[in-house]
Parts: sequence; C-alpha cells; structure tokens
Amino acid sequence: MPDRKDSDSRKLLLRLREILAAPGGGQDRLDRITHHIADSMGTQVCSIYLFRDPETLELCATEGLKSAAVHKTRLRLGEGLVGRVARSGRYVNTADAPSEPGFRFMPETGEEVYSSFLGVPIQRVGEKLGVLVVQSRDVRRFSDDEVYGLEVVAMVLAEMVELGAFLGSTDGMPAQHRFPIMLRGGIAQEGVAEGRVWLHEPRVVVTNPVGEDPLKEKARLNEAVAMLRVTVDTMLAATDMGSGDSAEVMETYRLFAHSRSWLRRMEEAIDLGLSAEAAVEKEQSQARARLESAADPYLRDRLHDLDDLSNRLLRILTGQGGDTGAEMPDNPILVARNIGPADLLDYGRKLRGVVLEEGSVGSHATVVARALAIPLVIHAERITSEALNGDPILVDGDMGIVHLRPEETVANAFRDKMAMQAEAQKRYAGLRDLPATATCGTTIQLYMNAGLMADLPSLESSGAEGVGLFRTELQFLARTRVPRRGELAALYAKVLENAQNKPVMFRTLDIGSDKVLPYMKPQDEPNPAMGWRAIRVGLDKRGVLRMQLQALIRASVGRPLHVMFPFITEMYEFEEAHRLLMEQFAREQRLGHDVPTDLRVGAMLETPSLAFAPKKFFEMCDFISVGGNDLKQFFFAADRENERVRRRYDSLNTSFIALLEQILQRCSDARVPVSFCGEDAGRPIEAVTFAALGFRRLSMRPASIGPVKHLIRRVDLNELKRVIDDARDIGETNLRRPVTDWLARQS
Ligand code: PEP
Ligand code: MG
Repeated sequence: MPDRKDSDSRKLLLRLREILAAPGGGQDRLDRITHHIADSMGTQVCSIYLFRDPETLELCATEGLKSAAVHKTRLRLGEGLVGRVARSGRYVNTADAPSEPGFRFMPETGEEVYSSFLGVPIQRVGEKLGVLVVQSRDVRRFSDDEVYGLEVVAMVLAEMVELGAFLGSTDGMPAQHRFPIMLRGGIAQEGVAEGRVWLHEPRVVVTNPVGEDPLKEKARLNEAVAMLRVTVDTMLAATDMGSGDSAEVMETYRLFAHSRSWLRRMEEAIDLGLSAEAAVEKEQSQARARLESAADPYLRDRLHDLDDLSNRLLRILTGQGGDTGAEMPDNPILVARNIGPADLLDYGRKLRGVVLEEGSVGSHATVVARALAIPLVIHAERITSEALNGDPILVDGDMGIVHLRPEETVANAFRDKMAMQAEAQKRYAGLRDLPATATCGTTIQLYMNAGLMADLPSLESSGAEGVGLFRTELQFLARTRVPRRGELAALYAKVLENAQNKPVMFRTLDIGSDKVLPYMKPQDEPNPAMGWRAIRVGLDKRGVLRMQLQALIRASVGRPLHVMFPFITEMYEFEEAHRLLMEQFAREQRLGHDVPTDLRVGAMLETPSLAFAPKKFFEMCDFISVGGNDLKQFFFAADRENERVRRRYDSLNTSFIALLEQILQRCSDARVPVSFCGEDAGRPIEAVTFAALGFRRLSMRPASIGPVKHLIRRVDLNELKRVIDDARDIGETNLRRPVTDWLARQS
C-alpha cells in the first residue's frame, strides 16, 4: 500500500495535470496551481518565480502573498533566498527565514510574518526556469518527504513551462530557453553562418510528466532499464577496449547502467506521482545541478555518462529515436556534444555550420568540417542544453563565437559582416581567371588543399591551378573497416578525372597521432602528435601503405601521378617510402598493367630536422611541400591543438622566417620545387610574406585563394623583401607590424 504522503502527492500532480488540460490562460493556470500546492502542503504561502532574463527572477503567481506584488517583485540571481535557490540549483529549507544569511525583506509582498521557507528550483535537465516556494507561519523545518514532494511538483512545473502552459501569463516574458545567449568557444574552421539549430541528438520531449498508475509506470521504467542494460552490455562487448583508461571509463558506464540506487530513486519519484519519463528527467536534472558545479574533470565526465544513459533511457521510454520526425530547417546549423567523421560526412554540405560542445582542432570532425568548408566552433560549453531545434543561431567561426537566439541588433551586425564577406567574395570571383602576378612581374602559383570528392568543384570555382595537398585520411576515417584497394583506386581516379588535367598531389595516409582509425587499436600514447603517426606507421605496417600506393598507381594510369609522404623526419624514411613506391610501380609493370605517364615523388617537410637533412635528400625529392602547421608546432614546441598556446607564436616571427629561408635555400641549391601548404598559406599577410621570401607555390583552402590573389596582385614582392630585410636590420623580431604598415601604405 502506498503511504498517505505518496497518495497526497499523486493527487496534487493529477490536479496539476487537470489544470494543464483545462482551457484557460497561462496566468489563470499559475494562480490555480499555487492555490492547490499551498492547500496540499498545508502552507499559507506558495509562490512561483520565473526568470524574466538570465539574471532576473519575477514573482509570477502567489497564494498568500499580496497579489499586487505579482509581476512587480523582482530579484536578481543570487539575491535573497529565492535568488540563492535559483543560482545554486538546490533547495533551501529553513525554519527561520529572516535570520538566514542573504534573506531579503520584501515589504510589498507582506512576507515578514512567514517564518518557515522551502524553495526548490524549477529546472529541466540543466535548464533553469525558476523557483517554487512554500512558506508558513509556524517555525518548523520542512521534512525530507516534503522537500522531495515539492521537488517532484517543481519537476512537473518545469515540464509545463517547457510545453508553453503558461504562455501569456508573463507579459511577453520569454520562457527561460528563449533568451539570447552568447557563447565563446574555440575556432576550428573559419567562416560565418546564419541558420537554425539542428540538434544531432534532439532532446526527448516528455509530454506527460504525471503518472496515473505508479505500478504501471514502475513496470515501464523497469522494462526500459532492462533494455538499456542489454544495450550497454552489447555495446561494451562490441567495443574491444582492451585495458587501460578507456576500459575503466566504459566499466563505470556499465556500473551506472546497473546501479540499484539510480533505479530506486526513480521509483520513489514515480511513487510521488511522476510518470516514468519525468522520473528519469528528475534524476538527470538533479545530477546535473550537483555535478555542474564540480570542477573535478573526472566527476564531470561521470556527469556526461549519467546524462548519456538518461537520454538513452528516455529514448527507450518514449520511443523517440535519434529521428524524432522533426523536419530539418533551412540553413541548418548542426549542434552536438561531439560528432564522428562519418556522421558529419552524412550531413555533408547541407549544413551551414557546426557548433560542438567538445571537439578539438585536430579532431576528425574538424578535419571533415574543414574539408566541407563550413564554419565550426568547438568547446561551446552548454550549447546542447541551451539550444532547441529550430532556434535561430549565428556562428562566427572567425572569432569562435556563437549567438543563440540573437537580439535583432546582433543579428543585423552579423548580417552586415556576412554581406561584406559575400561582397569581397564577388570581387575575388572576378579575379578567378587572372594569374597571381605581383606588380614586380613575379607570378605565384596558387593551389588548393582538398580531402574529399566534394572539394573538387572548388578547383573550378576558386581558380586554383591544382590540388597542392590531397589529404587521404578521410576515406579511412569515415569507414569502420580498412577500405579496399579497388574502392580507393576508383575514388582517386574520380578525383583525377574531376581535376581534369590539373595536377593533384596525393599525400599518403597521415594517421596515428590524434587521428586514430576506428578499426585501429588505440595506442594510448602520452604525446601522440610526436608519436607513432604518418610515415612512421606506414613504414612499420607496410601492408596499408603498399595497398594505398597500388591504388594511387592504378588510378593514375595514362596520367601523371604525384605522391608525397607525410611527416618525414630523417632522410632514410623518405628513401624507404620512395623505394616502396618504386617497387609497386615495377610490380604493376611486371604484371603487364598500364602505369602512370609520369611519377613525381615528394616529401612533406613538417619537422625542423628535415630542414637540416643531407643534400642528397633534397636531390632525391621531385618536390617538397612545407607542412607549416606541424613545422610550426615543433619549431616553437607549441601544440597546435592546445588553445592555450597555439596562438602564442607567430609564423612571422623572424626565427621561423629564418627557418623558411633555410628551407628555400636548400631547395634552390638542389633545384627542387618547393611549396607551402599549411594554413598560413591561406592568410593574405603571411602569403605575401612567404612569396617575398621566395615561395613560388602556395596551397590553401579554396576560399582563401581569392583574398590571397587579390593582395599579391597589389604588391611589389621585391619591395616587400626590402621591407623585411630592413625590419630585421633594425632588430625587429616579428615582421607582422612592418609588413602590415607597409601594406597599408600601398594603394
Ligand atoms: C601541415 O602540417 O601543415 C599539413 C598541411 O598537414 P596536416 O595539417 O594535415 O597535418
Ligand atoms: Mg601535417
């Protein structure tokens, strides 16, 4: 038999549900709700405070306080006991409110006579909506059961707010999630976009927070939990985590799924009248509130685990899968905690932008977003809990800023910026068929970087003279197994076909480091960027490299083939890779197969040591491509993925410039063509500086070709070289200011 408290609570919740179902305005509903809660709890006062803006709470309904105070009394977040509840996301229970620290006397409400105070947050999975308060004259602390009961009521209220039950009650006051929010994240791919939120994993909509029959609800919950456990166990069995940290993390995940106390707490909430779904959400909300304030990263990870499990459980209970039937809005901006490369590729160019709560500059998602040339902001904390499907959103990938539900003034300023960029693009389009010839007569070849078939149309539209870097990782990353030789050959052949007769420099697989293939055993290296990656993996596991080389040779039959090897550190690595390629070439001939008409073999120069390699190395190469991203990180010993340090050192620092000059000199001595294909090649100021130093080929993302060409065509590279030399003569250690000052003086 359920005890009396439980059945009272259930009665109250059922009454709330009736109020929700009955016709009537939002204010009327709120008033009736406060009346019923006070009546059921036996208190003189019950009040509902809702957020007016992220910093202000407004008294929206009350039973017991002066009705004239409704919509007049406001509190700032953290102010008074109500503000304290709102800020902390935890209840305050006191027998003597006036003597509590932070108590704020509000004469307009006539509350001085009330001594006991119990306030609980109205929140929904991390989303703070308001505060529910009961007060009474007698001096007593509320019992644990009462606290729990009021929390359950607050949970139902939160769902009601979410469903828009009180719209119209609040004088045009937006619901909490309607507020404009600006989030600062990290830059992973530049560009700006305006669109509507499309959640990769949309939140489950709970339409009925109140459960009529607790036995039935508990049975539903237990059945769903059993299914969840099976899914989690199967998932873990399928993921061979081996041992180490990841195995431990997965084990914790499993323990959560099997936790008795988790299930018990949810069952208790059902006893008090919640539906199974609402009980799951109540637990999820409280765990979030508890752990969100936790600084410990381990604890925060556990919060994510519990969150994931709760979401899975809700999906099982509601039958809402990843696909909720919602239609993708126009100009979708994908919002996700994180996303794998295959999923992101599936969305493809439909997306205008991507915002991730996690992610990293070198993550697979970033690699794909770059290839798709869509702005990507990472580390946008809270975005998945703040954003709802269809919300207007602005993504500024140049600044790493996201505006969710922006104010009109912000949106207008943003549109101005987009219009200016579009205008500039138009101007650049006019230059498409013109060469990047500086006023001194020197012509710089501008190539583009690519990594997907989808990139190839840009070859035409950008006016690039070829593909200076084709990253081949994506075809490997996006699959759950090693691609077959035939598949790869077909893909490479298609790339070459689409490039028409323009050259494509294929870079062999640069995996390892952070780019771990789904089917490769994670190596758990302490310092993966300097670990077993790229050519190091290729030479140790020759099967994959050999297969890739064969695919490249077959794809290029009847055409010239350019291959380059990544991350060469010592000469012998290039010799070995070169030999492997020649062996494959000879094998094809032996088998009587046709072969490419020409074979050019290059090396990526991305480690400082290679700039000092023996002369023979430079003579052996048919071409060299400077991978400035890696070269810079190793030269300055500054991790390119570490937000703290990655912008600290400038490529226009004269020491780095001296390294580039050394490379240019060595290449020139050996008469080997050299290009620069790191991100800096696409930045106009860096690009003209590199051109002035002697680089005659730059390879960049397609969108950068216009701006770079535009600037090159305006300058005299000889004069710029003199500016650079003069700056160094007078002891400047960074060329950025002298170069930009000089550029500003050009017409
Ligand atoms: C580089 O390191 O500069 C480069 C072009 O290669 P990736 O960015 O793919 O490491
Ligand atoms: Mg590199």
